[in-house]
Amino acid sequence: MLLGLAANRLHHHTEDAALFAFLRACEPGIRELQLGLHAVGRTHDAIVAAGLLQGYAPLVRYPYGRDGGLMKLVAEVVGMEGPGRTLDGAIYLIDPVDPSSIFPEALALKRQCVIHGKPFLSTVASARDWVEMERIHAGLPPDPQADGLHDYGAQTLALIAHDAMKAEMLAFADRHFDVLSRFSHRVATGTTGLRLNELAWNRGWPTDRYWVQRFHSGPLGGDAQIADLVLERRCHRVIFFEDPHVARQHETDIQLLERAVTTATYDAVCTTSPKVAQRWCEAARRREAGV
Ligand code: PGA
Repeated sequence: MLLGLAANRLHHHTEDAALFAFLRACEPGIRELQLGLHAVGRTHDAIVAAGLLQGYAPLVRYPYGRDGGLMKLVAEVVGMEGPGRTLDGAIYLIDPVDPSSIFPEALALKRQCVIHGKPFLSTVASARDWVEMERIHAGLPPDPQADGLHDYGAQTLALIAHDAMKAEMLAFADRHFDVLSRFSHRVATGTTGLRLNELAWNRGWPTDRYWVQRFHSGPLGGDAQIADLVLERRCHRVIFFEDPHVARQHETDIQLLERAVTTATYDAVCTTSPKVAQRWCEAARRREAGV
C-alpha cells in the first residue's frame, strides 16, 4: 500500500509537532504494513532530521510544495501509469490557519481522494485510526495504544450526507447498524438525521428514542453546529459522504467543518467516502471480536 504524506509547517516545526506524534505512535505499524510513503520535500526532511523511519526504504522523497510535490500527489491519487505511481490515499496533516492548506492543490488532493474513494487523512487521529484498521485487516493483533481511539462507547459520531449520497448513507447505516449503534451518542445534519431515525425505527429501535440527534439542515448551518461539537471535543468521529460533483451552496460551511476537524487533530477522525467508512466498520467489528 502506498500513501502520499504532507504536513503543514506547524505540524513538523517543533519536536512535539503532530507529524512526529503520529510517527512515534505508528512507526511500528507502518513497518509491519510495509506502507509506502511519498513524502513532500519539507515533510520528508523533517522526518529524517527527527531520526524517525530510519533506513526505511519505502519512504520516498517528493519535491518541495513550490516545486510541485503536492501537485504530483494529486495526480497519483487519480492514478498514473508506471510502478508505484498510484496512491491508495493521502495523509495531509492540516493546520487550518496555514494559507497553503487552502491552495488549489491542497483542495484538489482531498477532492480526488473523495472522488476515488480513497482515504484522505487530515488529522493525527484519522491517520492513527487508519493505520490500526489496516493492521487489523492484515491480520495483525490490536495495538493496545490505539484502544482509546476505538472506545466507541465513550464517543459521539456525526453522520452527514449530501443529497446525492443520502441513499448510500442509509445503505451504510443499515449494513453497519450494530457498529454505529455502539457510540454513546450520534448526531446528524437535519435531513440526513430525519432519514436515519426513520431507518432506525424501521429496524426496531425504540420509537420513543431518537437514534441520532438532529441539528439544522446543512445549508441552514448544521455543519457549523456539528463543527462546534468537534471544537469542544464533544464529537470524535465525523462520517461525511460528500458529493464532489456539484457546486455546493454551503461550500464554506462544509469547509468550516473540515477545518474544525483539523483543529482537533489529536481527537477527531474524519471519514469522507462510503468505501473508506465501510472498510473502517469491517475492521472495527473484527478488532472487537479479536479476529
Ligand atoms: P442535510 O445536510 O442532512 O440537512 O441534507 C447535509 C448537507 O447538505 O450538508
